[in-house]
Amino acid sequence: MTQISQSVSLDRQGRVAVVTVNNPPVNALSHHVRQGLRDAIAQAAGDSGAAAIVIACAGRTFIAGADITEFGKPPQEPTLSQVQDVIERSPKPVVAAIHGTALGGGLEVAMTCHWRVGVKTARLGQPEVKLGLIPGAGGTQRLPRLVGVDRALSMIVGGDPIGGEEAKRLGLVDEIIDGDLTAGAIAFAERVVTEKRPLRKVRDLDDKVGAARGKPEIFSEFRKSVARQTRGFKAPEACIRAVEAAVSLPFEQGLARERELFLETLSSPESKAQRYFFFAEREAAKIPDVPAETPAAEIRKAAVIGAGTMGGGIAMNFANVGIPVTVVEIAKDALDRGLGVVRKNYEATAAKGRLTKDDVEKRMGLIQGTTDFNAVADADLVIEAVFEEMAIKKDVFARLDKVAKANAVLATNTSTLDVNEIASATRRPESVVGMHFFSPANVMRLLEVVRGEKSAKPAIATAMAIGRKINKVPVLVGVCHGFVGNRMLHQRAKQAERLLLEGASPQQVDKVLTDFGLPMGPFAMGDLAGLDVGWRIRKGRGERAAVADRLCEKGRFGQKTGSGFYKYEGGDRTPRPDPEVERIIQEVSREAGVQRRQITDEEIRERLLYPMVNEGAKILEEGRAIRASDIDVIWVYGYGWPIYRGGPMFWADQIGLKTIRDRLLGLQKQTGDDFWRPAPLLNKLADQGRGFLDK
Ligand code: NAD
Repeated sequence: MTQISQSVSLDRQGRVAVVTVNNPPVNALSHHVRQGLRDAIAQAAGDSGAAAIVIACAGRTFIAGADITEFGKPPQEPTLSQVQDVIERSPKPVVAAIHGTALGGGLEVAMTCHWRVGVKTARLGQPEVKLGLIPGAGGTQRLPRLVGVDRALSMIVGGDPIGGEEAKRLGLVDEIIDGDLTAGAIAFAERVVTEKRPLRKVRDLDDKVGAARGKPEIFSEFRKSVARQTRGFKAPEACIRAVEAAVSLPFEQGLARERELFLETLSSPESKAQRYFFFAEREAAKIPDVPAETPAAEIRKAAVIGAGTMGGGIAMNFANVGIPVTVVEIAKDALDRGLGVVRKNYEATAAKGRLTKDDVEKRMGLIQGTTDFNAVADADLVIEAVFEEMAIKKDVFARLDKVAKANAVLATNTSTLDVNEIASATRRPESVVGMHFFSPANVMRLLEVVRGEKSAKPAIATAMAIGRKINKVPVLVGVCHGFVGNRMLHQRAKQAERLLLEGASPQQVDKVLTDFGLPMGPFAMGDLAGLDVGWRIRKGRGERAAVADRLCEKGRFGQKTGSGFYKYEGGDRTPRPDPEVERIIQEVSREAGVQRRQITDEEIRERLLYPMVNEGAKILEEGRAIRASDIDVIWVYGYGWPIYRGGPMFWADQIGLKTIRDRLLGLQKQTGDDFWRPAPLLNKLADQGRGFLDK
């Protein structure tokens, strides 16, 4: 065996040269891998004893993509396309042996080989679109030549990988290997030589792209089918255009067009935001004083107290990953109702074909309902999701303290109450944390893990780890009213109300935010959640929201009563503007002595979003979030902030903190309202010309 570069070696088995990439953990296409591949192929091509070449990878995967640590650095030769040229032009047949994941640049390398073999469990895909990019090394030109235009479009625009067997069916791999992969690949290569098969260069294949030539409807229909999911993103359209080029242009020109489109997406603000977010999400898992080696308890059994809206959804998360979970309710009828909703949810998923009947029963079988509180005794983690009342929560935690295992983690799902006070009801506040799920709890990915004053590091590590295990995105936050997400939302809500009084309509305000890319505006969202919820909380805190309160007084609680900020007709969830609401708003304005006027969309956007940024700054300086990017992760996963705008803090940096600070100062001066006072951190950064995310 010859070591060609730090990560690539060359060996010969009979008349087949075997090039092995060994660049743990995922065999990314680092500089030394590219160099090693180029030189190994050249050397094998010159080896008179070698008749064919296999490219295989050590460890758990084929080349899984680009080396993300090289992102943003000046490119170093050989470039990926230079390496691909050497492979494709090799006079001896080259066979890729694929296991694990062949993604992005990895799949693009495999597609320059003359043949591909792989194991059934392999996953192959072009996920670039998820970073706001298009495949930039021939993927958009070669994939349609192998799998056809329809599948290439769905793979490149969707970004999700396909399995080995599907890849075989589609023609992306030529043979599935059941036993030892490298041995199978060598045998395949031997056969190619023996049968004297001509080199099969993907660039020269034309039948599958030819089939789509002169049929522009394929593309227009595809565009229509993805319009909703891709709204606001730049890369999906660029992906489609690149595949169009594969159909309409000769290969080399198609490659050039792909390059152009790749560079366009690379420099787009959308991709910049998406790539930023990719790292932000990974960063959120890191807690400076709770290092990765902090022992996290294994959760073999979980318990949830309360089977209401949240409790049922939370329990589903555990059953979904095979962890048995006990659900405790006060009364049998509440329990039956709660578990009934869970079953209905699973059955609805099964009806859509996304779960088998067996799975439904298996999951229901993992959820054990009871009214016996002692049933939590063997749980490693207990999550409380009872009514939002301090006295009840404290009673529950005092009882948990008596029956739960000594080392169990005790979590509360409270949205507004003080986790420290809840913890004080136990003799083990170090075991208490918040686990703030978002509704619907079985769907929404965000999990705010709340660190109490006394929460021990292993308890935090356990909550973060189990959060990931149940497919959530856990973000650590500190104790404060509303934690991070709702605390910022609250500032936005105050302005939304105020804008109504000053002359905007609910539909105008909502549209500004949906145009911005959020899934819903504050008023449609209020109607969906139920306006009575906020009304009750405000009453408890002695706060008011003049318009929303007036609607509630009239029994308009939102969708559930058929009217709220909008009206809902015939069981339809579409919000319809309601002249009655317009009248109520005018009445409340008059009573408050507010002069109504035309308000521009721009003013609405600034007045809704800048206070959120300002609150984010306060959260950061109080240390309730570890870093600005964590706030962005919370907003993307918890509230549907468009990922192509990074998150509120990233977005603020793009606008410039000075611009935002000055606008806040202007509003403060104009209204005399301290609500607008810029946070000290925002002031400081604006003065220094820096952003929240500058290092
Ligand atoms: P819910 O009223 O739908 O459910 C609460 C359930 O707890 C009821 O079924 C009730 O019977 C049960 N319960 C009450 N006391 C109990 C006790 N002592 N023992 C066992 N069960 C008891 O409320 P929800 O919307 O599910 O909210 C639950 C918690 O989750 C609250 O703290 C709330 O603030 C929080 N939360 C709610 C949302 C949301 O959108 N609904 C989102 C995040 C967090």
